[in-house]
This record gives sequence, structure tokens and C-alpha cells, in this order.
Amino acid sequence: MNDEVDYLPLSMLNQLEYCERRFWLMFVCGEMEVNAPVLEGMQQHEQVHTGGTVQDGEWRALRRVYVWSDRLRVAGFADVVEVAGSGPEARLRPVEHKHGRMGRWLNDHIQLCAQGMCLEERTGRPVEGGEIFYWGSRRRVSVEFDAELRSRTERAIARAFHLIESRCIPAPLERRAKCRDCSLEPICLPRETLWLNSGGESDG
Ligand code: SF4
Repeated sequence: MNDEVDYLPLSMLNQLEYCERRFWLMFVCGEMEVNAPVLEGMQQHEQVHTGGTVQDGEWRALRRVYVWSDRLRVAGFADVVEVAGSGPEARLRPVEHKHGRMGRWLNDHIQLCAQGMCLEERTGRPVEGGEIFYWGSRRRVSVEFDAELRSRTERAIARAFHLIESRCIPAPLERRAKCRDCSLEPICLPRETLWLNSGGESDG
């Protein structure tokens, strides 16, 4: 394991916010379980992961844009960056494409906000919000990058680096709602691990 990580991939913030153990398994251990929903999500992403520019009304969409922040030490691709206007008045917003429907968790918002903060650092312009397109419901959801979301995003980044430096895999989640939708469940074995961690005294 390399604990001298320079820049954290933006997509890993999403995993971290969903579950710290999932983040660890994917980022530190390099685990990836390609089940049917994951494969479908990968194919949907391929449709927006070809670089190029598309004009739609006042908004011009730049596909697959590499962004990074030296301050936050995060980097990665934004699926789409939309631009309206030009020159000093131009407005920017990142748009992320997600498999499935909008979930109950804020992990997608954190990833999007980090993209927005990267864009701000790169362009010197305020990025006040972005949008997430959910393939499952064919809906775009607007996300405002307010102070609370920005603070939460920065805390998530700090937590990620702290976890990497700790060299210690986080315990599985006690509440299983997220585990039911997690593609890494067969690798993580949350029930069995919790049972072992409890000394075999609980039914997990
Ligand atoms: S199965 Fe549960 S505890 Fe394990 S990585 Fe997935 S969400 Fe986290």
C-alpha cells in the first residue's frame, strides 16, 4: 500500500461517503466486483466518456473534462462541464451521470461538489452548483454547492487521507441498508466480519 498518495481520485470520494470500508476495498485494495448493475452503469458512462462538445440552447457541454485541485489534493474527470456565455461572465456547472435512481445518500453530491471546487480553482470563477443525471429515472437533479455541502466535501477529503495514512481497514457498517446495494458485499463479508469481530458472540 502506498500511503504517499498525492491526489485522491474524485470518484473515490463517492465511495468514501457511501461507506469507508468500500472506499478502502476499492482504493487501497483495488477491489472491483462487476455484477450486472455495475456493468450497466459502466456502459451508460461510456456514452458520456467520449470527449467532445455539444451545444444545447445557451449551454455548451464539454464532455469528459479533467479537473483537479492542488489545495484539496483531488483530481479526476467530470463527465460533463456545461458552460453558458463567454468571457468573464461565463457560467460553469459540472454534470455527473449516475446509474440508477437518486438514492438516499449524499455521496453523489459530495463528488459533484468536489468537481465544482476543482473547477473554481482551475478557472478562478465561482461555481454555484451542478446537476446529476440519473439514468434510472431519466431525471436531472440540481445540487447547490452551499457552505454546508462544501464543508462536508472538505471533511470527506480529509477523512480519506486520514484513513489511507491509518493503514487500517474500517469495520463493516452496522446498519445494513447500504450493504444490500453494495457490489462489494461478497468480498467485504460484512455479516461474517462483524461476527468475528464480536468474538462470535453476536449473530451479526
Ligand atoms: S458490504 Fe456494507 S460494509 Fe461492506 S463495503 Fe459494502 S456497504 Fe460497506
